[in-house]
Amino acid sequence: MARPITREELQAFVTRHLTAGGYYEEPLIRIGRADDPLWEEFKRPGAIGGIYRTPLEWLPEAKTVISVFGPWADEVVTTNAVDPVYPSGAWIDAYHNGGALIKQVSVTLAEWLNEAGYAAMAPAMSKEFRYVYEDGSQPDIPAGISYASNWSERHAAFVCGQGTFGLSRGIITERGMAGRFCSVVTDLELEPDARPYSGLYDYCIRCGKCAENCPPKAIRMENGKDHPPCDAWLTEMKARNGIAGCCGKCQVNVPCSRGIPNR
Ligand code: SF4
Ligand code: SF4
Repeated sequence: MARPITREELQAFVTRHLTAGGYYEEPLIRIGRADDPLWEEFKRPGAIGGIYRTPLEWLPEAKTVISVFGPWADEVVTTNAVDPVYPSGAWIDAYHNGGALIKQVSVTLAEWLNEAGYAAMAPAMSKEFRYVYEDGSQPDIPAGISYASNWSERHAAFVCGQGTFGLSRGIITERGMAGRFCSVVTDLELEPDARPYSGLYDYCIRCGKCAENCPPKAIRMENGKDHPPCDAWLTEMKARNGIAGCCGKCQVNVPCSRGIPNR
């Protein structure tokens, strides 16, 4: 029989693992229902598309999706706000090592739930996780799909109540956009959080500052972020710093960096 796990215990477990190393502040955890009808919506062309798998397709007995947001520590954000073009050393380090840490936390969390008697898994860390960059580049994935994956941390965050998308396509949470997400699907039953919004972009004030900051001008007011120029820029940054393809200028020096704008 499974051991009962409370919300407080879950928060303490994730906080202890995620804040080790100093990359993140206290994480925000939000809970969604595995059978929420919104998951199916992401399969529509124009959303993520047919590649997408719902929580119940990852884990048929699932009841809950746990979304974790790790806001970057102050030093990571403030140092990256200094130079308008190149990422700071702290940002590169956090993106590389902090990025690996939050992925590992999702695996550790799933294992902890397994040990407590629950089915649990982290879709983005599954062997079945797939990401397609260019349309037609993977023969078993239907044509017409690019820059899409069969699980999305940001879409999971939206459903679980973490926040809404911004023009730059990041999620604006109560603690802003500067940070990273992970998620776990499980049959542990927890009270779902409310989604205090209805539209995909409710928290974005369309100020255009992310577009202004973007070095390769990959963000436009009309249609948001265009993946190819952002990707090319990230490749250039990796060649320059030799560690990580990162940038993050759309997440710093913006009104949504550390909170929901105008609140
Ligand atoms: S910087 Fe402004 S336009 Fe860009 S995502 Fe944030 S609130 Fe929206
Ligand atoms: S990560 Fe950098 S290149 Fe990509 S959209 Fe943000 S600011 Fe632009």
